[in-house]
Amino acid sequence: MIEENVKQILNEVPAAATVVAATKGRSVDQIREAIQAGITIVGESYVQEAQEKYLVIKSEVKWHFIGHLQKNKVKKAVKMFDMIQSLDSLELAELIDKECGKLNKVMPVLIEVNCAREPQKGGILPEAVKTFIAEALSFSHIRLGGLMTMGPLVEDEEILRPYFRETKRLFNVVKERYQDELLEWKYLSMGMSASYRCAIEEGANMIRLGEVIFGERT
Ligand SMILES: *Cc1c(COP(=O)(O)O)cnc(C)c1O
Repeated sequence: MIEENVKQILNEVPAAATVVAATKGRSVDQIREAIQAGITIVGESYVQEAQEKYLVIKSEVKWHFIGHLQKNKVKKAVKMFDMIQSLDSLELAELIDKECGKLNKVMPVLIEVNCAREPQKGGILPEAVKTFIAEALSFSHIRLGGLMTMGPLVEDEEILRPYFRETKRLFNVVKERYQDELLEWKYLSMGMSASYRCAIEEGANMIRLGEVIFGERT
């Protein structure tokens, strides 16, 4: 089942779009099945949960953090993850920078954009992203690699299309504006199970899929 789903999706999406398997709540066995079918990146939403799986699966796959990163979990997170897709505050950037400095490593990060300006959601507002980058550029142990966005949780992907389109526009504006500083600015992570087709049409090159790979979450 998982294997068939992965194969079908990898077959369907353009090669330029990287599939991240969103694995919150999924077991080591389920994740391994996805890896066997061709998944190369998993996205975890909770540090503690990720760590338990990481201890078993380790470098069979790349580990991306896609949830809200609590400050007291940064130290653990930077040891384990290959990318943090959900950078949502300068304070967090500073902490990641500090902890990575201790380990002598540079963490690739994506800036999480609150594309629909939802008050209850985290993320940087679209209009604040450029200022955020100007400040985050001072951290030498993080590498700004692009944008990630979620958007409202809706069934109809057409509702998300304008937000995806705006986020792609913002991605390009930043690329242009910071072309000398942001040499690794290349990832636009948007689209989930209900919206990945639309997200790809609007320029996503990384999609995060849970239910279409593993089945409904219970
Ligand atoms: C769970 C999750 C996904 C995947 O959602 P599905 O609807 O299961 O595809 C993608 N991104 C984030 C940040 C998530 O937490």
